[in-house]
Amino acid sequence: MKRIALLGATGSIGRQALEVVEEHPELELVAAASGSRPIDGLAPLTQVGGDLTGLLDRAEPDVVLNAVVGFAGLPATFWALERGVDLALANKESLVAGGDLAVAAWERGGGRLLPVDSEHSAAHQLLEGRARETVHSLVLTASGGPFRGRRRVDLAEVRPAEALAHPTWSMGPKITTDSATLMNKGLELIEAHFLFGLPYEEIEVVVHPSSVVHALVRLRDGASLAHLGYPDMRVPISYALTYPERSATPIEPLDLAAGLILEFGPPDDEAFPCLSLARAAGESGGTAPCVLNAANEVAVAAFLDGELPFLGISDVVERTLAQLECPPARDLDELVAMDAEARRTASALTRQLVH
Ligand code: NAD
Ligand code: MG
Repeated sequence: MKRIALLGATGSIGRQALEVVEEHPELELVAAASGSRPIDGLAPLTQVGGDLTGLLDRAEPDVVLNAVVGFAGLPATFWALERGVDLALANKESLVAGGDLAVAAWERGGGRLLPVDSEHSAAHQLLEGRARETVHSLVLTASGGPFRGRRRVDLAEVRPAEALAHPTWSMGPKITTDSATLMNKGLELIEAHFLFGLPYEEIEVVVHPSSVVHALVRLRDGASLAHLGYPDMRVPISYALTYPERSATPIEPLDLAAGLILEFGPPDDEAFPCLSLARAAGESGGTAPCVLNAANEVAVAAFLDGELPFLGISDVVERTLAQLECPPARDLDELVAMDAEARRTASALTRQLVH
């Protein structure tokens, strides 16, 4: 039996994780948490809001599935990494914001960090057991989101409802908006850097509209290995929760004879500047990724509230990064303080842009 603590149980990932747990008798849900919606009776221990680390202390899980959205997921990520408890990580924001400290905690704790993000789950499978020096580069695919093919001028007036209509994945509102700006792929670039220890210049992002190839690894001998599958988050959730057994799922195997066409192309940096902002923040290091993430959370919330225009999201992120010094955080308190400062700066910039 594997004892699972599911954080973010009412969200898109959380609900799919419940399906996976249901299908696998060897998985036992011992704790569940949500941000605001009631979840009484879902697990022996439940909690709504508040500090999730107390719940984890009481639950003593074998695996923490962190499917909280945003920086709010950070304490649970560190709780698991420090203790060497296996972490199935959907909450990419905690790794983006806390990168260097998280990797250090992971090394100290010595547990497993199993990515749930589909591209990183794929990359994990492609890179596992492979000598670092044989790897030339990693490719992450992006669907391109609902606005793929549009020019910057065509994006000025887009409304939240249009940004929330994702072509291939059904997800929570924050990540769906991030997919529309390509910030999601920017966050994933930074996530991949910390998960796999690859320098940024060895991680490429390509647009692949059907989201069938999740990641690809190029090797030094000229061979490339790709990970394919229909876009369905139950696959990476199941992989992370049943690792290393890789239990069966009810998901259809890939049907190539039905006529599978795989298209790839470069991202449009002019229409979707968030991806290059994230790459620059990752490369500059220190707390720049934390500031990028915080500013993005503030800007996306303002966009979804109908206050900030779509193109204002990248403006707020860019200006917040330009205004702040981003020295490395020496501990979690410094990181949390930097996140708070970035939020204050981004909120002030958002108000300026709106009025
Ligand atoms: P969602 O908005 O559907 O769900 C978020 C969950 O987090 C909810 O259960 C909510 O109650 C909970 N939550 C929010 N704030 C909280 C807090 N302060 N304390 C405790 N719980 C809190 O989001 P989602 O789409 O399920 O995404 C969750 C995470 O997984 C995000 O980091 C996202 O980037 C990542 N992710 C999601 C997908 C996907 O397909 N949905 C794919 C890859 C990665
Ligand atoms: Mg992803």
